[in-house]
This record gives sequence, structure tokens and C-alpha cells, in this order.
Amino acid sequence: MCVMTMRASLSRLASLDEPRPRERIPWVELSCLPCGEVAGYIEDRRVVRSVYQGGIRLERGRPCCGRCGGLLLSGNRGVATSRNGIG
Ligand SMILES: [Zn+2]
Repeated sequence: MCVMTMRASLSRLASLDEPRPRERIPWVELSCLPCGEVAGYIEDRRVVRSVYQGGIRLERGRPCCGRCGGLLLSGNRGVATSRNGIG
């Protein structure tokens, strides 16, 4: 009975892994100096994602703080294996 349960969960894991190879998403944190907060992240060097609605504004191609208009500075960076792992 135990063996059968283990086998079932192992094959379920394998099938979950199969459709997509493990992603690697490089990310960079964007923080606002005046606000002192993280406004969002740059994913994969091209996707700008704010942590809250309207958190990042693009002005002439440069990311600015949506709250105070200050220039965003890149902070911590890393590589995530999924979108949820960013930050
Ligand atoms: Zn700001």
C-alpha cells in the first residue's frame, strides 16, 4: 500500500515537470530613492513589472517612480526559476 502511494506521487511529479523545462528569469530590482521603496522589477531584461498598480512610469524609455516621479535605481538582482521566485 505504501509503495503504491509513493509510485503514484512520483509519476505525478514527473508529468508536472515534463511540459516545461525549468525557466531561468534574470531579474533586477527597481527602487525609488525618494520613496525608499521597491517599485518593481525588470524581468528577463525587457519586461518591467511594478509591484503595485501604476508603480512604474516610463518616461522617454526610462523607468520612473509612479508615485513621486523620481528616477528608479537598480538594486538587488538575481535569477529566478519561476515568476513567483522573483524578488
Ligand atoms: Zn518615488
